[in-house]
Amino acid sequence: MANPVPGKLTMDKLVSLCQRRGFIFPSSDIYGGLSGCWDYGPVGVELKRNIKEAWWRSIVQERNDIVGLDTSILMNSSVWQASGHLTSFSDPLVECRVCHLRWKADELAERKCPSCGGELTEERIFNTMFKTFIGPVEEEAAIVYLRPETAQGMFVNFQNALNTSRKRLPFGVAQQGKAFRNEITTGNFIFRSREFEIMEFEYYVKPGTDKEWFDYWVEERFNWYIKLGIKKDNLGLYEHPKEKLAHYSRNTTDITYLFPHGQAELEGIANRTDFDLKQHGVATGKALEYYDNETNEHYVPYIIEPSAGVDRVILTFLCDAYDEEVVNDDLRVLFHFHPDIAPIKVAVLPLSRKENLVALAKNVHADLRPCFMTQYDDTQAIGRRYRRQDELGTPFSVTIDFQSLEDNMATIRERDTLNQIRIPIPSLKDTLQAKLAGEDLFVLPEGGQIWKQDSGG
Ligand code: ATP
Repeated sequence: MANPVPGKLTMDKLVSLCQRRGFIFPSSDIYGGLSGCWDYGPVGVELKRNIKEAWWRSIVQERNDIVGLDTSILMNSSVWQASGHLTSFSDPLVECRVCHLRWKADELAERKCPSCGGELTEERIFNTMFKTFIGPVEEEAAIVYLRPETAQGMFVNFQNALNTSRKRLPFGVAQQGKAFRNEITTGNFIFRSREFEIMEFEYYVKPGTDKEWFDYWVEERFNWYIKLGIKKDNLGLYEHPKEKLAHYSRNTTDITYLFPHGQAELEGIANRTDFDLKQHGVATGKALEYYDNETNEHYVPYIIEPSAGVDRVILTFLCDAYDEEVVNDDLRVLFHFHPDIAPIKVAVLPLSRKENLVALAKNVHADLRPCFMTQYDDTQAIGRRYRRQDELGTPFSVTIDFQSLEDNMATIRERDTLNQIRIPIPSLKDTLQAKLAGEDLFVLPEGGQIWKQDSGG
């Protein structure tokens, strides 16, 4: 057999691996799918939860100045009137098939994308919000929209969140949840879909301090990805030129990532000024202001908004962690997920299905399960099971072998190095906890030994 050669990641490879290993499936798959919609499988759902949890921990739990909210998807339609979503999205639009910029059809001199020269879609009256009806009668007055972002739910709760949390400025409100956009073109797997999740927060600051907070959040959010293992070289920052800014924004900087289809927006950080609170203030007749008791002033805060699509962040972690390497003349495919992100933290693998071995392995599994997301697997040859765990990105596998029955020890195999240690079964829980927190594999508990180093696992 020819020697295997590690290849580069392509979107096709990723889509097929994600489907084969239970990360992500096309929505309504047995009916032929639904364009722009995806389902997360047993492994994907864990990955998604871990990413959302890591974000929530860093934005809400570990900070004193940001609180969480979970607002409804359906809102009073006047919200979308005031926010500008109903009016500014109701023009005849064409969309560039290449860069996805949309253009007002009647303002174009020629049938090419003014930005990149790409081919344009047919013209249509376009509002990217999905429309539905509340109540039994499908009439104009009953129209409601599926939210295209989660931000408006936070703006309209500005006073509720501020008053009940008794915070002072600068102060933020964070939210994660589904958003829906009737995108003209979808594609690149979960990069652009019609139903997706957003995690974003609104950081309210005193006007005049907005520039400094904007810079602070660009840096914080950039570093969050690096802390969780994303390679710095694959990340970028793109500052939007002033003439291309959204109507509400004074500055926007995107954190970009080098996806298989090119460098593209992963997260956007916008200085939304006082636009949103003023709009909702005017529309409702309620002053959405802040009273600063230090300076004795009332003012409408400025808003810094870092907004990331959960699914795009998932795609980023998948692409960045993907690796192919040759081990013992065999191709090994793996995800080098950071332990906080890895869907399964520990696999428990009995060497064979012998009854007494399985009994011990099941005991070990029962002991570890309350502490970590684990997987028990006794189905195939041990080598194949290791490879399967590599493809799930499981940082550690615990193997129970025949010697374990005599010495009550088990081996721990490290995904990235393929090194192994052998330690007493009663120390497994604490040792795995330490390794998942970043301790070197060869720091051993009492009675532990190095089992395999630089082997071809
Ligand atoms: P794009 O230019 O890619 O359409 P946008 O600038 O409209 O994105 P925002 O409105 O700033 O995006 O949305 C915030 C974040 O939500 C984006 O940075 C992206 O991660 C994510 N996002 C936006 N649209 C989609 C979509 N259709 N599918 C998946 N994620 C999306």
